[in-house]
Amino acid sequence: MGVPIVGESGVLGNLYLTNKSGKKEFDEHDQTVVEAFAQYAATALENDRLRMEAEEERGRIRAMIESSASAVIVADARDGRVVLSNSETTRIMGRPLQAGESRDEYERTVVYRKPDGSVYDTSELPLQQALRDGTVSRGVEVIFNLPDGREIPTLVNAAPVYGEDGEISAAIAIFEDITALQEVERVKAEFLSMVSHDLKGPLSGIKSMASALLLEHGPRDIETILEYLASIDEEADRMTELVGNLVDMSRIEANAMPMDPEICHLADITEESIRRFNRSRLGGQQRINVDVPLELPEVYADYDQIGRVITNLLSNASKYSSQGTEISIKSYLHEDNGANIITDVKDSGIGIPDDEIDKIFDKFYRVTTQRGRGRPGSGLGLAICRSIIEAHEGRIWVESKPGEGSTFHFSIPASVVSVGI
Ligand code: ADP
Repeated sequence: MGVPIVGESGVLGNLYLTNKSGKKEFDEHDQTVVEAFAQYAATALENDRLRMEAEEERGRIRAMIESSASAVIVADARDGRVVLSNSETTRIMGRPLQAGESRDEYERTVVYRKPDGSVYDTSELPLQQALRDGTVSRGVEVIFNLPDGREIPTLVNAAPVYGEDGEISAAIAIFEDITALQEVERVKAEFLSMVSHDLKGPLSGIKSMASALLLEHGPRDIETILEYLASIDEEADRMTELVGNLVDMSRIEANAMPMDPEICHLADITEESIRRFNRSRLGGQQRINVDVPLELPEVYADYDQIGRVITNLLSNASKYSSQGTEISIKSYLHEDNGANIITDVKDSGIGIPDDEIDKIFDKFYRVTTQRGRGRPGSGLGLAICRSIIEAHEGRIWVESKPGEGSTFHFSIPASVVSVGI
């Protein structure tokens, strides 16, 4: 005898009975019993399927929360214990939060601060407010002060989770590490103050000297007039350099600085760069030794842009060295395979502290923590050099010893086929 096992989703299987004891035939009563049995089996199988589906759904949600770029904590409304957290929470808190961990445990290890520096009462934290009375919080700034000394600014959103009975069963807090965002804000603010300061200085110099020349009782002897004009010229150069750097930087950011490569020789580029440098306000303060042999292979490069890199490195070498010291510039084939030409610009100036070496090629970065750093500049020169060299498939780096000097190196391929930013 056979009876189908029918669940809500259709036939789940069949139940067969064979060989009734005593070799009797199956009767109607047997049929009723087996049908009832099949119904029980259908309910059990259906329940199992639903349980597995719910388990799968929970697994999917867990995986989604785990891979979220934001930190997530879910806490139980009954006692505030952690139900779930993810790896970003582990990264921010510096340790994994265990499921079942009590409020006291996860709140005690961290000091939560407001942006003004004052400490949050833990009951004021968005997660606890959501657990307590269902308050929904959006974009609350909470700074985590961790036991290892780290300070992590975050933006927190929190909301309650309601159960079927309409009561709060849990709460979820989602928080975002905004360190990088704050860094961008800091760089932006620094940039604005740098630009306004660096433009205002030369501009007010130009204005006051031009006004003095125009005044009736202003300087009349030719020597003083020439001196004033030279200063005006110098200040205007400074402004032109800054504005030029800003324009280039924004072009580089917009991927819009075209390279115009040609077959040329580094000896020619270097000679012209030194001439240009010598005519600038920094020129002539140090002796420049040049060693760029004509025997070197030619390069396929943007003549003007590589020239700018060399002039920039020479300007820095001069700016950060004393008068009367020496600067050397030298090009040679890379000993590895001869496919690259390396150029060194070496000075014996103030050098660069070890912990600053990695940062000086970043835009707007200026070393401010060392004596003798009071030179004007925008912190853009080396960022532009790096972009130009990288567009030539080359590399730029520096070796330096504070108090002894720095050597900037850049490499470009001896034969570059295609160049472009
Ligand atoms: P700027 O010179 O306009 O500040 P740069 O991008 O050219 O900007 O240089 C970034 C920083 O690197 C400078 O502020 C300076 O502190 C440091 N630096 C660059 N070249 C040298 C050098 N030859 N010797 C010492 N420090 C240097």
